[in-house]
Amino acid sequence: MKVIKSISEWQALRSTIPAEKTVGFIATMGCLHDGHASLIKQSVLENDVTVLSIYVNPTQFNDASDFENYSNTFEHDLEIAKACHVDFVFAPEKTAMYPDHHSISVQTDDKISQVLEGEFRPGHFNGMLTVVLKLLLLIRPTIAYFGEKDYQQYELIKKLVHQFFLTCEIKGCAIVRETSGLAMSSRNKRLSKNGLKQAEAFANLFQQYPELSKYNLLAQLKALDIEVEYLEEMGDRAYIAAFVEGVRLIDNIKYQ
Ligand code: AMP
Repeated sequence: MKVIKSISEWQALRSTIPAEKTVGFIATMGCLHDGHASLIKQSVLENDVTVLSIYVNPTQFNDASDFENYSNTFEHDLEIAKACHVDFVFAPEKTAMYPDHHSISVQTDDKISQVLEGEFRPGHFNGMLTVVLKLLLLIRPTIAYFGEKDYQQYELIKKLVHQFFLTCEIKGCAIVRETSGLAMSSRNKRLSKNGLKQAEAFANLFQQYPELSKYNLLAQLKALDIEVEYLEEMGDRAYIAAFVEGVRLIDNIKYQ
């Protein structure tokens, strides 16, 4: 496994990968867990070469403290990547992805970007789409894998690829959960033992929706001291965002 930190080094290396080889790509912000590993494993299974990026993208954080508190577990991430048989880890320096200080970016007012995460995290999707476009142009994957954990993100990336005439395929991967039902997330690591219990109860209650009515679900979450930001249906999915011990957790389920 080769770790590349410089963009020019990656570009030189990319040009040596023969055109007939398929390249699978997983974009992450590090702090890897089994959710990320499932995307990596699918890529390794389906492609000749797998590239993993680790880059905490500053432009998609609408909350400065969330960015500052984002865990850095780089050495451990490399161990996971290696165990999953990643070929290349692309981990650019903080400023390298924005040599123009973010003066040219992707802007969306697509209706998916205006609701749920888009409504409560202003600017988040513009920052995310900007970095994903840059990464897709650099990596030039055959298939890029994204988790359904961030379902709006996955839908917007499919639209991005279509609108910018990129040729890669975007594949959505099922949410990986702890045995407790809690969706795996880098943010779960910030929870205390008690907070983790609350988060597990949150996931369990949410998965009972819509059999458990919206009213009852919200009442039970409130009783657990969990502050819900939104609980909405869109298409055939239900989406939720809530705070446990100040940590923002999101989840979604297909319910039809
Ligand atoms: P992140 O590092 O949180 O930006 O996530 C990188 C990729 O992993 C995104 O495509 C996420 O949707 C995906 N991902 C994160 N957590 C999970 C999970 N629990 N199950 C499946 N995919 C996930």
